[in-house]
Amino acid sequence: MTQAVLVTGGAGYIGAHACKALRDAGFLPVTYDNLSNGWRDAVRFGPLVVADLADRAALDAAFAQYRPVAVMHFAALSLVGDAMRDPGRYWRANVLGALNLIEAAVAAGCLDFVFSSTCATYGDQDGVVLDEDSPQRPINSYGKSKRAIEDMLADFGASHGLRSVIFRYFNVAGADPEAEVGEYHQPETHLIPLLLDAIAGNRPALTVFGTDYPTPDGTCIRDYVHVSDLADAHVLGVNWLLDGKGSRVFCLGTGSGFSVREVIEQSRIVTNRDVPVIYGDRRAGDAVALVSGSDRARIELGWAPRRSTMHDMIADAWRWHQTGGFCG
Ligand code: UDP
Repeated sequence: MTQAVLVTGGAGYIGAHACKALRDAGFLPVTYDNLSNGWRDAVRFGPLVVADLADRAALDAAFAQYRPVAVMHFAALSLVGDAMRDPGRYWRANVLGALNLIEAAVAAGCLDFVFSSTCATYGDQDGVVLDEDSPQRPINSYGKSKRAIEDMLADFGASHGLRSVIFRYFNVAGADPEAEVGEYHQPETHLIPLLLDAIAGNRPALTVFGTDYPTPDGTCIRDYVHVSDLADAHVLGVNWLLDGKGSRVFCLGTGSGFSVREVIEQSRIVTNRDVPVIYGDRRAGDAVALVSGSDRARIELGWAPRRSTMHDMIADAWRWHQTGGFCG
């Protein structure tokens, strides 16, 4: 019988790609999503439960109906700027939402849990490459809320035998190479989709947030990973847990940092079009540089990123961008 995996946030950008990877690996991805930031159109690979993580009865009903063998928890608020303006919203949605979900999973006896954490849990560490053992000193409520959930998972591991794979992502980019799903946020705040929007003429220009950072070209540096490679890692994470290998943290990055100016230049090359750019002030809460220095996912999980070059990420995102995104 096909094994179900409950995917919270399965209608969102990363969750939808994970659902495709799960389906391709022979699982039934069951999306649990309140559609606040997700799209019904993105749910193409399994059933959809439209409900909120705050709704414990709906969570219990989903576990009872589908009897998932594991949970993948993506649903969260994830914008650094918003988190700085309205931290209460982040603590409530992310931390209370995760607590409800974890308690429902434990009550249902579903003890294998894959969690989307983030390199934002590290905060600003003066450009050092980061690995699973680097100290976590988040500088915004988004990173702090994710870090609190990591602690929660450890506590439920000790008390209830919950087993968790925690993925700390670096920056996620690109789109499904077959363009079935892709990145589509309303409003959009992320660098690459905004750049492509500016290139396509859908917005006047991209504003670069800060050119006075202590980096070679003055702009922030990030480690970008292709969303389909990230999705593959999540399937490996589920299999890791189902194979009884126990709780583990993995960083998911490529080890290569790209500055905002370098991403702009690559976008110009890939699309062969001009990129209208404005140089603006720093954005509050942004770390100078976030780059993964870890090989653990490759060595232990057998993760082999296939499309995480900047060229492929922008090319896939551009192909998807030209489809126009989701409509509902
Ligand atoms: N960025 C920018 N202009 C924008 C959006 C983002 O210069 O309109 C920069 C941002 O300051 C950061 C990088 O691009 O250095 C990646 O930002 P994004 O919001 O995509 O991801 P984050 O790093 O916040 O998770």
